[in-house]
Amino acid sequence: MDELTAAIRARELVQRVNTNSIPVQVEPFLAVLRCELKVDNEMGPHEAGYCLSKSGKHVIVVNGKDSPERQRFTTFHEMGHIDLKLPSEHAGSPSWSYNNRSANEICCDTYAAEILLPHRFFKPLVDSADIGMAALDDLAEKFEASVTATGSRFASTTNAPCAFVVSENGMVRYTVISKALREVRAWITRGMAVPSGSSTALISNGQSVKDPQEIAADVWFNDWRRGGVLLEEARYLRNYDQTLTLLWFEDEEVPHKPSTDNNGEDGEMGLKELDGILPWPGKRRRR
Ligand SMILES: [Zn+2]
Repeated sequence: MDELTAAIRARELVQRVNTNSIPVQVEPFLAVLRCELKVDNEMGPHEAGYCLSKSGKHVIVVNGKDSPERQRFTTFHEMGHIDLKLPSEHAGSPSWSYNNRSANEICCDTYAAEILLPHRFFKPLVDSADIGMAALDDLAEKFEASVTATGSRFASTTNAPCAFVVSENGMVRYTVISKALREVRAWITRGMAVPSGSSTALISNGQSVKDPQEIAADVWFNDWRRGGVLLEEARYLRNYDQTLTLLWFEDEEVPHKPSTDNNGEDGEMGLKELDGILPWPGKRRRR
């Protein structure tokens, strides 16, 4: 299964449950999928949750020590395993880590984000927001979602040239590049070292950086020949030893391509990231 299919399946469920307000309530989704939710306060710190199924009934267990936002995300993630019939691949890295995350887990994350941050409610708020960590905090609060889930969804939804990056131990582990940036082939390699001197690197090393800082776009983007200066705002999450980064062009303007550069044409690269503009499921599949 790919992320697009997972997202479409989640939208089908959103349509069935007929969510009309935010924050999205968990209970109607549990009922439709015949799930019972249990909170386990004894679960280890690296585990977010799991599900058990018997005779068409399911029990979702979430870690009571996680924040309420994380528990909500985990609940929808586990619903993804049930609804998409994708076996868990939770062993190995901690649940929040993006290091070596398997395809099944990424699909269930996508599924969870589609339900927790429904496009219909999320997109208009993203369109009217000023890009920055403050906007992510505000949206995260409205939707009762983690800032990490919100940032990822923000970059996949916005019309602006913006990227969201999660790094761990000084390495880029996860990136979401907005559609406007993908169209001009802006790319950040997963697995690369966080650029030295960037706000992300400074904050990861315990330094304090206030406000968005300017940084040359080619410091972050691979093989970038348009020049220009990005704004970068980063935040260190101590509990997870992760750093979140937002990158964007001020005034939402991507620098023009140098006229001497004839290599490559602009256009969609057909990359896997979702742009948030998915077809709604057809009426014939509606129940
Ligand atoms: Zn999972």
